[in-house]
Amino acid sequence: MTSDVETPIYLDHHATTPVDEDVVKEMKPYFTENYGNPASEDHIYGAKAKKAVNEARERISETVNCRPEEIIFTSGATESDNLAIKGAAEYAAKHDEGSHLITVVTEHEAVLEACEALEEKGFDATYLPVDEQGTVDPSDVEDAIRDDTVLISIMAANNEIGTTAPLKEIGKVAKDNDVFFHTDAVQALGYLSINVEEMGIDLMSISGHKIYGPKGIGALYVRRRNPKVKLEPLLHGGGHERGWRSGTLNVPSIMGFSKAVELADKNMEERTSHVDELSSYMWERLDDELDDIILNGHPDERIPNNLNISFTGVENKALVKNLQPDIAVSAGSACTTGQVEASHVLQAITDDKDRWHNTIRIGLGKDNTKEEIEYATDEIINIVNRLRNLTF
Ligand SMILES: *Cc1c(COP(=O)(O)O)cnc(C)c1O
Repeated sequence: MTSDVETPIYLDHHATTPVDEDVVKEMKPYFTENYGNPASEDHIYGAKAKKAVNEARERISETVNCRPEEIIFTSGATESDNLAIKGAAEYAAKHDEGSHLITVVTEHEAVLEACEALEEKGFDATYLPVDEQGTVDPSDVEDAIRDDTVLISIMAANNEIGTTAPLKEIGKVAKDNDVFFHTDAVQALGYLSINVEEMGIDLMSISGHKIYGPKGIGALYVRRRNPKVKLEPLLHGGGHERGWRSGTLNVPSIMGFSKAVELADKNMEERTSHVDELSSYMWERLDDELDDIILNGHPDERIPNNLNISFTGVENKALVKNLQPDIAVSAGSACTTGQVEASHVLQAITDDKDRWHNTIRIGLGKDNTKEEIEYATDEIINIVNRLRNLTF
């Protein structure tokens, strides 16, 4: 194959994304010039930093239709998920308002493990199933609600198979039953337009590094009106972020993150149509030129940058390894201390054990070019054919 495409080609944008140049530019002055602590209220350094952080809060709030003071900055979506779930549950339990949570088996580990940690402390959790396309049924959510249910936590878009959730319907179920609704919107941000009012969302986790912003910064939206959500903090200290998240604010990252959110919102249509075109091209060619492959997740209700594909007879680890060093994709399964464990998401959508180990995740990004995708598609076809000829 002759090609002047530059390698390696990054196709793992669900894991992380490069930081946009404009985002880096936004961050820079806050390291060396405007380096004040926003909590230093006595002087101009603190005042300038505080003003900047307030602007960041405003930028983010405008894109999701909330108020600036409803945005709490965190170290990322792992912390946001933990704060939402443990915070709401612990507060409710402390005030005798209930101790039951509802979530879904295909959630991110940050949600599942937070619920499991609460179960160990005596809370109850219901893990709802999904159908074979990864979709949760809002009527299952409604049926699972009990008198002591405090919170429903359901992700907006799945980070492995890309399936999106019927947020508006779930939000309505939550509202009708006076239960708080948390959504992990990390993978949806920038592809789905999110409106916390229209969707009845009470708590929402987002992260910088999945949307061309820096790592180690994220936010939790916390509704303050109709209804007012109350949380127990995870971190105690100086009472920053209204006491819900103590710790000096990471001003450069907050500025970069807010810029990334603004760009994700402003360029949503352009980014969506670009990755949609690339993923459609790739899927159509793979499906045309290879037998026995399956696109996992929902055919339409999905984020446009995701292709999660099972190649019958091809071990995913071997495929991913053989794509090195040219093409970076993910085996789509969690790898803990060298042991290959099947993805909990694939286990939830199929009983076919072979498929659990035949699946890779391709995550396209706004900066991928058509040439890169042509090259990567050729490579994947070649290697799948080669590996199949070895095994059959
Ligand atoms: C990446 C990811 C997280 C974790 O976010 P961090 O900011 O890396 O902690 C949580 N949920 C989903 C769906 C993700 O994709």
